[in-house]
Amino acid sequence: INPSEFIKQHIRTVPDWPQAGVQFRDITTLLQDPKIFRVLIDIFLARYADAKLDLVAGMDARGFILGSVVAYELNIGFVPIRKKGKLPFTTVSESYELEYGSATVELHTDACKAGDRVLLIDDLIATGGTMMAGKKLLERLGATVVEGAVIVDLPELGGSKLIQENGLSLFKVCD
Ligand code: IMP
Repeated sequence: INPSEFIKQHIRTVPDWPQAGVQFRDITTLLQDPKIFRVLIDIFLARYADAKLDLVAGMDARGFILGSVVAYELNIGFVPIRKKGKLPFTTVSESYELEYGSATVELHTDACKAGDRVLLIDDLIATGGTMMAGKKLLERLGATVVEGAVIVDLPELGGSKLIQENGLSLFKVCD
C-alpha cells in the first residue's frame, strides 16, 4: 500500500457535521497516531526537501499543525494566516465569500518579505476560498507562493480547479 492510500484510509468521515448533508473529513485521526502522523509529514518533506523554500505559511487552524512541523523539519520559519482579530501586530487582510456569509483572514505585514519562496499549507480544499485568500495575502507582501499543499481535496466543490486556474500549483496527499 502506498503512503497516499494509507493516509486516505485513515481519514475519518463524519456524516452531517457541522450540518445536515455535510460529510466532514476529520484529519485528527491522522495526528493522534504517531506512525500515521509521521507517514503524513514525510510525504510533505519528500516533496519539499529540495524546493528551496524560505518559509511555510499555515492556514488557521489545521494548517498550523501541519505547517509548523514541516517548517521545523525543513529548518525554515513558519507564519500563521489567522482568522480576523487574532494577530496583534499590523496586518494585511482578505475577505472571501462562504456559502452563508463571509470570512476574513489576516497576516502580519512583516511575516515575509518580497521575493520569499513560500509554501502555503492547509488540511483541505473545499471551495478554494480559504487558500486563495492566503495566496493573495502572501502576494500582497511580495512573496512567491511556490505551491499550495493539502491532505484532501473535495474536487466536486471546484476549489482545486479555481486555485489552479488562478496560477497556483496544488499538491494533494490524497487524490
Ligand atoms: P474552502 O475555503 O471552501 O476551500 O474550505 C476549506 C477550509 O475549510 C479549510 O481551512 C478547511 O480546514 C475547512 N474545511 C471545510 N470542509 C472541511 C472538511 O470536511 N474537513 C476539514 N476541514 C474542512
